[in-house]
Amino acid sequence: MAVIELNTISKRYRNADSNAVDRVSFSLEKGEILALVGESGSGKTTLLRLIAGLEHPDSGTIRLGEEIIVSGRKSVPANKRKTGMVFQEYALFPHLTIYGNVAFGLKGLKKKETEQRVMETINLTGLKEDVKKYPHQLSGGQQQRVALARALAPRPELLLMDEPFSNLDTILRDQVREEVRQIIKAMGITAILVTHDTKDAFSTADKIAVMLEGRLLQLDTPDALYKDPNSSYVADLFGKSNNIEATVSPRGFKTPFGFVSGPKDCPLAVNQDKVNIFFRAEEADFCNAEEPHLCGRVEQCMYLGDHMQLKVCCNRCATCAGGNEVEVMDDSQRILLKSSEQTWKTGDVVRFKLKNYKVKAADSE
Ligand code: ADP
Ligand code: MG
Repeated sequence: MAVIELNTISKRYRNADSNAVDRVSFSLEKGEILALVGESGSGKTTLLRLIAGLEHPDSGTIRLGEEIIVSGRKSVPANKRKTGMVFQEYALFPHLTIYGNVAFGLKGLKKKETEQRVMETINLTGLKEDVKKYPHQLSGGQQQRVALARALAPRPELLLMDEPFSNLDTILRDQVREEVRQIIKAMGITAILVTHDTKDAFSTADKIAVMLEGRLLQLDTPDALYKDPNSSYVADLFGKSNNIEATVSPRGFKTPFGFVSGPKDCPLAVNQDKVNIFFRAEEADFCNAEEPHLCGRVEQCMYLGDHMQLKVCCNRCATCAGGNEVEVMDDSQRILLKSSEQTWKTGDVVRFKLKNYKVKAADSE
């Protein structure tokens, strides 16, 4: 059974003209880490607060473990929910030591048990040397770990983190992400992490949910989101992608760059006139004229250190683009390719093939 399950949760703030969270449903299995990504204002924090019990939804239900914590008017109070929360600004108590901060949320345990639990958590989070210090004596990364330890000490069923890395500079951030993931995994805790940074999501999460205007656009593994996004919004969120329009013909999918052979079992090829061919720059391989290939011309090239980015337009090449079969060719489309060769210049002819691509119905968005 899933540890947490949300069913069509919606929330509109007073005087707002649209939902901050709009019919969001998902569930997570034990030990999974979910990253909730989306631009500012997309509803990520609101969703987290609804789960934590800091807001109540207008409709929908939430189950945590065995318990329905939200349904209709029913709302289990925040302090009775088995969730732990880490806030962006850590919100540590400045007048308490690290020990005091971590012990704070432990109510109803005997003194001995409290001590044991705090030290266990402190060891797990690598804070042993710092128990007697105060928050201001610690670095940002260490404070982050204290906040995490404080949230984990009561052994919540679900850990909620709102932008936990955004106060850290880039170098520290890479390291802390890795540490946080290891700690959560070592404890086997289910976690939801809110971030606007796709790198946070890729490096920390098992699954990623993309939000836009309160709606959950797609929830999938990082790999599936990257390779098979269900909308151009999701595709572009994770880096540059190519989405070229094509028409279905007996020879395959006809694009301004030539024919892309359709997979035999592709159901779209049968009943769809227009399709989109989606691929990432790294899914195109350069090749020579002897092999079957697609063809374009370099319109612009950009040196980017370890590779060159080529902006490629239609070459109006009669052979590649299907000769007479292509009557009026839409030559306004551009694609981006990556090359490790640094010798490209504007006007060069580019021959390439796609080792991987997705075919989507043209009007699927
Ligand atoms: P995110 O965390 O993705 O940036 P939020 O959940 O904070 O998004 O906000 C979602 C929407 O709800 C935004 O339009 C925001 O302005 C609005 N909003 C957030 N908190 C409140 C609040 N307490 N009262 C009214 N509107 C709010
Ligand atoms: Mg937020």
